[in-house]
Amino acid sequence: MGLKGYIHDIVEAVVTTAKGMRITARYGVDPKEEVTLQYPEERWEIPQGYRGFLHNDIKACTSCTMCVKVCPVDCISLEAVRGADKKMVLASYDIDIGRCMYCGLCVEVCPPKSLKHTSGYEMASVSRGELVLHFVPEDAAEIKARVARQVAEAAAKAAEAAKAAEAAKAAEGSAEPPKPAAGPPEPPPATEKKE
Ligand code: SF4
Ligand code: SF4
Repeated sequence: MGLKGYIHDIVEAVVTTAKGMRITARYGVDPKEEVTLQYPEERWEIPQGYRGFLHNDIKACTSCTMCVKVCPVDCISLEAVRGADKKMVLASYDIDIGRCMYCGLCVEVCPPKSLKHTSGYEMASVSRGELVLHFVPEDAAEIKARVARQVAEAAAKAAEAAKAAEAAKAAEGSAEPPKPAAGPPEPPPATEKKE
């Protein structure tokens, strides 16, 4: 860098610093113009459409996995098992908000609209593990075991019902009254006499 460039940089630094100080001084001498809030007692109003932390209404969630597939950073994970009524049962649904980039794609694709952005944005933690939101409070292994039991019970009941129906059908067949024995042959029809 030549002497000319060096002087140019110094002049530019002085000018930009002066600009910044002018703004600082303006706010400093006019206390009526408030530019800060007394956080956390006061907060800025959240703009409409703000994408804050995600929330999933697990009662409405159908475990379709669309949100998992669409997430560009793989921060959603879910486990689901098929229940006795053939519907999927959610065993776990977690979102790592430490990785989430709030793109909103998962909310867009959610068919029942159970997944939504909230206006929440405050969370401090010293551990990344604490930034994983768990939406199913019960233990996943317990849910899976319970559903497996219910499926087995339903299958046993269905098998019993089928067996009982078969037995009833067989009993119905054997209880049919015997067919009446063939009687004496009917006399031939009388022929008309011609005069
Ligand atoms: S908002 Fe985007 S990054 Fe966050 S969980 Fe949804 S799809 Fe993934
Ligand atoms: S897309 Fe919606 S319904 Fe499907 S698994 Fe995700 S949250 Fe549940």
